[in-house]
Amino acid sequence: QLLKNQFTVDFKGAWPEGEPAPYALITQAFSLIEGTTKRIEKTSYLTSLLFTVISRSRQKDGREPDIDSVLQTVYLCINRLSPDYIGIELGIGESLLIKAISESTGRSAQVIKTELKKEGDLGLVAMNSKASQKTIFKPKPLTVPTVFARLKEIALTSGVQSQAKKTGIITKLLAACQTTIAGSTSSEAKFIIRSLEGKLRIGLAERTVIVALAHAAVLDEKERRNKNWSKERLSSKLEEATGILKQVYSEIPSYDLVIPALLKYGIWDLRAHCKLTPGIPLKPMLAKPTKAIGEVLDRFEGKKFTCEYKYDGERAQVHRLEDGTVAVFSRNSEDMSKKYPDLMESLPRCIKDNTKSFVFDAEAVAIDKNTGKLMPFQELSKRKRKDVKVEDIAVRVCLFAFDLLYLNGEPLLHKSLEERRALLREHFVPVPLEFDFAKSSDGDTTEQIQTFLEESVKDGCEGLMVKMLQSDESFYEPSRRSVNWLKLKKDYLAGVGDSLDLVVVGGYHGKGKRTAVYGAFLLACYDADNEEWQTICKIGTGFSDEALQEHAKTLKELEISALRGDIKAGGAKPDVWFEPKVVWEVLAADLSLSPIYTAAQGLVEQRGISLRFPRFIRVRDDKSADDATGPEQIAEMYQRQALAQSKGKKGKGDA
Ligand code: ATP
Repeated sequence: QLLKNQFTVDFKGAWPEGEPAPYALITQAFSLIEGTTKRIEKTSYLTSLLFTVISRSRQKDGREPDIDSVLQTVYLCINRLSPDYIGIELGIGESLLIKAISESTGRSAQVIKTELKKEGDLGLVAMNSKASQKTIFKPKPLTVPTVFARLKEIALTSGVQSQAKKTGIITKLLAACQTTIAGSTSSEAKFIIRSLEGKLRIGLAERTVIVALAHAAVLDEKERRNKNWSKERLSSKLEEATGILKQVYSEIPSYDLVIPALLKYGIWDLRAHCKLTPGIPLKPMLAKPTKAIGEVLDRFEGKKFTCEYKYDGERAQVHRLEDGTVAVFSRNSEDMSKKYPDLMESLPRCIKDNTKSFVFDAEAVAIDKNTGKLMPFQELSKRKRKDVKVEDIAVRVCLFAFDLLYLNGEPLLHKSLEERRALLREHFVPVPLEFDFAKSSDGDTTEQIQTFLEESVKDGCEGLMVKMLQSDESFYEPSRRSVNWLKLKKDYLAGVGDSLDLVVVGGYHGKGKRTAVYGAFLLACYDADNEEWQTICKIGTGFSDEALQEHAKTLKELEISALRGDIKAGGAKPDVWFEPKVVWEVLAADLSLSPIYTAAQGLVEQRGISLRFPRFIRVRDDKSADDATGPEQIAEMYQRQALAQSKGKKGKGDA
């Protein structure tokens, strides 16, 4: 199945040797991927694409393949232009794209808008506009490097006249798209527009790209070495390769580094060449919510575990390179060195002499500079995100370190938390008001946890993090929401449940004194597998008048003229739709099944799940729309709630 080349056009034949990969190769794969909902088929199409690019660009004499072709193909498949921590982003506004389509195809902006209302997909409108255009010359086929370079140029254009410059580049790029390829309508314009919008909408999650890349590397080896593996042997090789690539990528999430190494050393030696490296932020380990102390004990029964204060601040991954350079990264791998110049300056004071290079995981928390008391996240959020000057800083920040991931040239992810914690305490030293270790208590009874939880709340924390201490269950698992880390927030105990991070996708016009602003909003969760936002509730409480003004200002800019195809609205009918960008943290009384909303449809029941009595907590600037809570988490919360209710009915509720 995997080896079968499913392309209708023989690109290997049509792709002259030594030339860069044609962009049409990618768009044809995208169309095939878009046409199926089966993950295995999506993986298979993508494997064919990547295998073609790797083997073709390797050329006859078996030389190293053209790294750029492979790297840029992968970036175009995940619709990114750089690693997260470099942060070159697409996401061009609708009006600019309409202007470019209009200029490039000669159709009026009004006609394009009307068609967009009908189709809900500007990419499709661009493709139709191209198809209806009469062309005299057939343009030279677009190549992967050209498209990648233009997209990057657009993303990097800033300053005066930047809008006009961007429109100019997009117009030219659209003009260079083919109208037909091998007798059928070309989808180049469609995917260029979708890339520029920031979403491909073909239901391709990044983990599928990683699986396909691992499979393509194995198939390339099979072909080059002329291996005659049995079906079973091939299948176990594919699985092993996938495991290797997933692990490597979670430690160094940079295709810029992983792909050249993969092509040079092959998949089997990749781990030896790509290890956690200071300077490249890894995806943080995440925790699962728990609703009761009893649940913690059920999980950790008979195991050694520790409870740590769950500080109410912002995650900070702190790196120091061998040459002394330091950097702080956010939960989202964003470089925060410019937000925290004070931390950068104080860091040397908490490092012992025997500590050269390191990566530690910590929470940056606002504190009162006179009393050292912890302050809530709201205080920290007053700080600007960029270009903060030390002399202007009003809110003091202290770092509370809770894990050590790398020390003096050695990754520590596969050591137990007990060992990592010992090394952390050995190599760093607390400095009042600047740096400390997360307060912890290694207890094992309900009473001990209860006492420590109350203490943490009294000290201004959100609750506790309970973590496995020993054995491989306590390894650091980058990017995983692991059962080996449980969060126990004080709110849970009041029966409220964990908060959710949701994307604002629609607005309802206000009434009475709120006519100038939106009076309520439509929220959605994000399904990474299907690359779509699923509606979950309407929210209108928890906002002050000032907050509504602020939200109106931000969201007005994001209004779009039609519902995007990647927002699964269900029965929700807001007055306006927004580009999915803004993330809010929200609490709710409970969850219920809903005939209107689409969140987690099919996971618990055919109906979706919605939030009852949702309440706005805060804006989550540190999360992008793709980091919103997912449908699986929502289904899990719903099931947990149903379980607690049935236990409660039987009189067995434990908290
Ligand atoms: P998530 O990160 O789980 O998606 P979130 O960003 O809303 O959700 P929480 O669910 O509140 O965060 O809990 C996890 C976060 O708690 C961590 O990302 C970290 O920023 C913070 N935290 C505070 N203290 C600790 C600690 N001792 N150990 C680990 N994380 C801690």
